Amino acid sequence: MQMDPTYEKPATVNAASEAATAEGARIIAGGTTMVDLMKVGALTPAALVDINGLSPLHGVEIGAEQLKFGALATMAQVGDDPALAEAFPALTESLWKAASPQLRNVATLGGNILQHTRCPYFRDTAFAQCNKRVPGSGCAALEGGETTLHAIFGGSSSCVAMYPGDLAQTLIAFDAVVTTQGPGGTREIPFAQMHLLPEDTPHIETVLEAGEIVTAISLPVIPAMSNSIYSKARDRESYAFASASAAVGLETDGETVRDVRIGLGGVAAVPWRATAAEDFLRGKALTEENFREAGRIAFADATALEGSAYKIALGADVLTGALMTLKSRTGDK
Ligand code: SF4
Repeated sequence: MQMDPTYEKPATVNAASEAATAEGARIIAGGTTMVDLMKVGALTPAALVDINGLSPLHGVEIGAEQLKFGALATMAQVGDDPALAEAFPALTESLWKAASPQLRNVATLGGNILQHTRCPYFRDTAFAQCNKRVPGSGCAALEGGETTLHAIFGGSSSCVAMYPGDLAQTLIAFDAVVTTQGPGGTREIPFAQMHLLPEDTPHIETVLEAGEIVTAISLPVIPAMSNSIYSKARDRESYAFASASAAVGLETDGETVRDVRIGLGGVAAVPWRATAAEDFLRGKALTEENFREAGRIAFADATALEGSAYKIALGADVLTGALMTLKSRTGDK
C-alpha cells in the first residue's frame, strides 16, 4: 500500500538540500505539476521538501548586463513585469502563453523548467509500459500508441516523450545559466546542458544530483532580446501545450541579420536550440526566402513518427512566421 509522503519545510537552502537527499524525497515549490502527478499516482514520493520558505530564492534582479530570477519567482511575477515585456518580449510571451492565470500565480520558474512530460502514458498508470515512469517496462507510445504530441528531435528507442515547457525555449535560445546549490556546493549549469536526452534512461531527466536545488536562473542581456518573440501553435488559443513553438530573437545590421537566436518547442525531448538555422541566417539578407530556408534547415534532421509528422511543416511555418514578424518590427527599434 502506498503511504502518504512525509512533509517538511526547511528554513535554509542547506537544510532543504540535506532533506532532499533522502531516498524517495522530492522538492516541492508551487506544486502545480507535482500535486497533479501525485494525484494520478505517476509520482509517489516518500518525502516532500517544501522550499517556499527560502526567501533568497524569491528575488528578481533586472540589470543592464544581466537578468537574474530566483527559482521561486512566480511565472506571474516575471511575466507581468512591464519593463521586462518591453526589454525582452520573448520571455514575457513564453510565460503568458503557458498555463492559466491561476497556475501562473503559484507556479515558479524553477518548477517550470523542471516540469515533466505530458505524454499520456506517463501520466496514466493504467498503462504499465512507460520507461520514464517505470524503468525497463517498455514504451506504450512506441508500441502502437498515440504519438501526436511526441518528439521529432532527440527521442530514442526507449522514449519519444516531448519536453512540454515554453519558458525553456526562450532560456536556451538566449544562453541562460542555472545556479544550483547541493551537497557538493554551488555550481552554474548552462541551461543547454541541464536536460538529458532520454537515450536508454528516460527516467533520468536532468543533470541535477540528489539534493541539488535550483536557486536562480540568469541571462546575459544582449541586443536580440529587445526584438524577440515567442510564437506558439496549439490546439486551442489558451491553456494548451505547444504543437510547435519558437522563441526567436533578431538583431539586424541594416538589411542583414547580425545575430539571431532560435529555440524550438513542442518538438523535442529536451529544450531545443536550432543552431544550424541560426548559423545559416547570420549575415544573410532579411528576406522571406532566407527565413523559409532557415525553417527548412531547422527541421531537416527531424525524425517523426506517423502521428507527429505534421510537426515538421508546422514547426517550419511557426519559425518562418516568427522571423517575418520580427523583420516587420525592425523599423520600430
Ligand atoms: Fe513513457 Fe516516454 Fe514512452 Fe511516453 S514516450 S510512454 S513517457 S517511455
